[in-house]
Amino acid sequence: MKPKKITIAIDGFSSTGKSTIAKQLAKQLNYLYVDTGAMYRAVTLYAIQLNYVNQDKLEKDALIKSLDEINLTFKYNEKLSFSEMYLNGKNVEQEIRTIELSKLVSKVSAISEVRKKLVEQQQKMGEDKGVVMDGRDIGTVVFPDAELKLFMTASPEKRATRRYKELLEKGHDVSYADVLENVQQRDYLDSTREDSPLIKADDAIEFDNSDMGLKEQFERIYQLVLIKRNG
Ligand code: C5P
Repeated sequence: MKPKKITIAIDGFSSTGKSTIAKQLAKQLNYLYVDTGAMYRAVTLYAIQLNYVNQDKLEKDALIKSLDEINLTFKYNEKLSFSEMYLNGKNVEQEIRTIELSKLVSKVSAISEVRKKLVEQQQKMGEDKGVVMDGRDIGTVVFPDAELKLFMTASPEKRATRRYKELLEKGHDVSYADVLENVQQRDYLDSTREDSPLIKADDAIEFDNSDMGLKEQFERIYQLVLIKRNG
């Protein structure tokens, strides 16, 4: 008998390695991986391009009015073995990862109309199950009935260190202090917003990976997947 397809929801604070584990699981299970953070980042990029948002302002109504103009798609890149984010037909994978954009994304993601649009699209992408989705509200709002929910945490310093290294490797010009501040600020804004705040779903399993290697983490989580999938 074929194992049943399940939905795996991975939520947690910024830079807790959600996407690393989600990608590994999707590959191993031959599931679809959806990075919902990339979608909020792409909407933020759109808002920056139209000058609706910067450090000092957010033109919420203007952005809401133009939401229908925003078309988000993922396209699989064979070489890199992951799906890249496209905004209105353009690959924006690089642009959405900058620290400047990271400083604005939590303002944009707090807008209910933005969330509604993206949540609908996410639910559609996962309607046939066989999906690993990571974000902040997947287990609470997008797929409250997901068979497996994980909630990832790690100390802010560990997370900032990982993110800092990642950004340096990708050629971004950043300081550790700036990255740490951004990680903490996003956690605060994401956890305290009114609509779909970042909280652990009651039935989510918490993983503190401050001192856990990737391999150990994957093995533990994969065991949980097997239990859910075969159960
Ligand atoms: O996952 P990543 O760090 O790329 O997410 C960027 C931002 O997008 C988060 O800080 C949060 O403001 C927003 N986000 C969200 N809900 C999700 C995924 C991301 O609000 N499901």
